[in-house]
Amino acid sequence: MAQTVEGLNLKLKGQKFSLNICHLYPDLMDTYGDKGNILAIIYRCQKRGIDVSLEEVSVNQPLTTNIYDLFFFGGGQDQAQSIVGEDLLKKSDVLKKYIDSGSALLSICGGYQLLQKYFQTKEGQKIPGIGLFDAYTIGSNDRMIQNLLIETDGSLQTQIESAYPSNDLPSTSLIGFENHSGKTYLGKSLKPLGSVLAGSGNNGEDSTEGAIYKNAFGCYLHGSLLPKNPHFADFLIAKALEKNYGPVNLEPLDDEIEWQAHNKAVELTRASS
Ligand code: GLN
Repeated sequence: MAQTVEGLNLKLKGQKFSLNICHLYPDLMDTYGDKGNILAIIYRCQKRGIDVSLEEVSVNQPLTTNIYDLFFFGGGQDQAQSIVGEDLLKKSDVLKKYIDSGSALLSICGGYQLLQKYFQTKEGQKIPGIGLFDAYTIGSNDRMIQNLLIETDGSLQTQIESAYPSNDLPSTSLIGFENHSGKTYLGKSLKPLGSVLAGSGNNGEDSTEGAIYKNAFGCYLHGSLLPKNPHFADFLIAKALEKNYGPVNLEPLDDEIEWQAHNKAVELTRASS
């Protein structure tokens, strides 16, 4: 169902921006406050007068071409993943085309796993993914459940620093909450989102967390992630706008509360690890 969220109708550098978001499978894949990521994006866009539209696309609903700038795909249980995985295969070509032409995407946990080559459950069921990320996930007997703190990869860090409109970025790390038993292994040339400072990340073995393909990002950071990582939220907004408008300078927002939340979560994570 399409929903239009009007911005404040301000002009940024003489240009009115709009951003079209697609939330994939929100009815089946939306655990641990994942929806908060969408709310954070909408809030940060509205504050800046960027018009936002939000559309939800689920099983048996077509993924329309040439509309969306930003996709969000949250986490879910194995059973939901097998239903969604089957449907996602039908949307694979359209979704890949979007990503190849510069749309941004944030996927978390179960969503991230379905964008890989496959997810094999603990019981041995192999759910095929669409292979956007050259990676695979194998269900294990370990449940990785804790706060997850990562340092973003070097070139990504530079991009986040330039997207976040402050000369003084308080943190370049990302903090979230992981809860998965699947262990993800990246192909040789696939870049991780970052390296693990506390928690398990992709598999609890190689200190990698998440994956990057073009402007598509996968991770195990539930939580919600974006409200307490405003730098990453702005980075995603900038990437999504860039597709239609070229490089943009976002207006700074008062992120005092967001950084308090970030710092508190980091402090608690460090204290318990
Ligand atoms: N079923 C997956 C796992 O446990 C995904 C869980 C999730 O999305 N939180 O690995």
